[in-house]
Amino acid sequence: MTEPPRRPRRRPARIVRVETYARELAAALRLADWSITVAVESAGRDAYASIDTDPGKVAVLCLGPPFWRATPEVQRATIVHELAHCVFAPMALTLQQLGAMLPDGRGRALEVSLLDVEHEVIGWLEHVLSPSLPLPPAFGGRR
Ligand SMILES: [Zn+2]
Repeated sequence: MTEPPRRPRRRPARIVRVETYARELAAALRLADWSITVAVESAGRDAYASIDTDPGKVAVLCLGPPFWRATPEVQRATIVHELAHCVFAPMALTLQQLGAMLPDGRGRALEVSLLDVEHEVIGWLEHVLSPSLPLPPAFGGRR
């Protein structure tokens, strides 16, 4: 007797809802060519969110407990922030490669300092762009 094929595990409804919203924001931010998914795994106990990107324009967004407790305005700003990391992903990769070429840890120091600048710009973009974008629906779950 053969076993029935395994069904993929169902993803929580709030993850599916936030993924739909994140893709809507990505389209509004001209990032529609990115494949955006939201991980079921948490970004960490104290983190609002994090995002992993790869050169193939694939991004995986992770959300943490503070995100789920945040106001819709903060949730929107958080997702805009993480999506802005997609824009800078090629630069972050170049910085990493450049950092590895310089001797004596100087490359790493340069990389860290330039990544700080990138983060300043992303923070600025988050505040400038967020108010013009739609607020999220209620995602449900623990809030
Ligand atoms: Zn960031």
